[in-house]
Amino acid sequence: MIVVMEPNASEGQVADVVNAITRAGFNVRRSGMDRVVLGVYGVGQAPEPELIAGLSGIAEVSVAGPHYRLVSRAFQPEDSRIELGNGVVVGGEQVVVMAGPCSVEDEETVNRIAEAVAKAGAHILRGGAYKPRTSPYAFQGLGEEGLYLLRQAADAHGLLTISEVMEPSQIPLAEHYCNVLQIGARNMQNFTLLRELGRSRRPVMLKRGPAATLDEWLAAAEYIASCGNPNILLCERGIRTFETATRNTFDLSAIPVAKSRSHLPVVADPSHGTGVREHVLPMARAAIAAGADAIMVEVHVEPEKALSDGAQSLTPPMFQRMMAEIRDVAAAVNRGL
Ligand code: PEP
Ligand code: MN
Repeated sequence: MIVVMEPNASEGQVADVVNAITRAGFNVRRSGMDRVVLGVYGVGQAPEPELIAGLSGIAEVSVAGPHYRLVSRAFQPEDSRIELGNGVVVGGEQVVVMAGPCSVEDEETVNRIAEAVAKAGAHILRGGAYKPRTSPYAFQGLGEEGLYLLRQAADAHGLLTISEVMEPSQIPLAEHYCNVLQIGARNMQNFTLLRELGRSRRPVMLKRGPAATLDEWLAAAEYIASCGNPNILLCERGIRTFETATRNTFDLSAIPVAKSRSHLPVVADPSHGTGVREHVLPMARAAIAAGADAIMVEVHVEPEKALSDGAQSLTPPMFQRMMAEIRDVAAAVNRGL
C-alpha cells in the first residue's frame, strides 16, 4: 500500500499515519520531495487502506501493484541514484560502464583486461568467480581466488568491482572484495538469496531471469528492498524466445518499461543479450538511446581462448570503439559518459 500525503500535511499528521501503520505491525518507508509518500509493507501480509481510515492530511491511498511497492514509481517518483563507491553513481546524469571477462581466469589475463577497459574509460571491472554454468563439466570459476584477483586488478587501475554470488554462504567474501554484488539471471527468483542480499550493505545488481516478466522481475527486486537494502540495480540481459539467431532476445523495450514502473536504475547487458560480439555494439548504442543508466559488457584480451562466453566478448579495440560511440549517443540524449 502507498499513502500519498497532502502537499501541506503537517509532520504531526504524517506521524499519526505512521503510528497507525506501525501499531498494526507493518513497516513504513518514507519518500517524496514535494509531498510525503509512505510505502507500507509487511512480509507475508497485505496492509488494508482501512488501517488509516479517518486520519487527516492524506491525499491518496493506493494498493500499487500486487507484488511490489517500495521499488515502484508510485512510491518514489524521482529516480534512485545509487552510489557504488569512488563517487561513481548509477541513475544520475552520467552513464556508467561495467566491463571485464565473463570469468576471472588467471592473474595476468584479468590484469590485461582491467588495464584495457580502464584505459578506454570503464568505471567498474566485472568478472565471475562463482559461475552458474549450464554444464557441470564447464569451468566453474576460481572462487575466492577469483574475487581476490578481480579486486587486485581493479585497484591497480582505479576501477570498482562487481561479481556474482550464487548462494548466501558466498555473500561475506563477495562483500569483502566487491563494490556491487550481482544476482545472475538463473537466480532471479532464489528467494533465500534475495532476502540475504536484502540484509547486505552492498548495492545489488539483479539480472532479469531468462523467462521472467517485468512484474516478476520487479517483485524479485521488492524482496531485496523489503529486507532493508534499497540499493538495487535492475539488469536487462535478454530473455528466451523462439528466436535462435541470437543467444537470447535482448528486450530493449524492457528498459523504458522498467524505468516507467520503477525508480531503480536500469543496466543493459547486450553481451548476454545477444551472445554474438558483432551485435553487442549496436545494442549498446540502442540501450543508451532507450534510457539505460549503465552498460555491462564482456571484454577479453584473447576471446578465442576465454574459458566462458568468448563468442560474445569484445576485444579491447572493439570496446574502445563502443565507448566512443556510446559517448556520442549519451550526449544525444543529454547524458554524460
Ligand atoms: C554473467 O554475467 O556472466 C552471467 C552468468 O550472466 P547471466 O546471469 O545474465 O547469464
Ligand atoms: Mn558471461
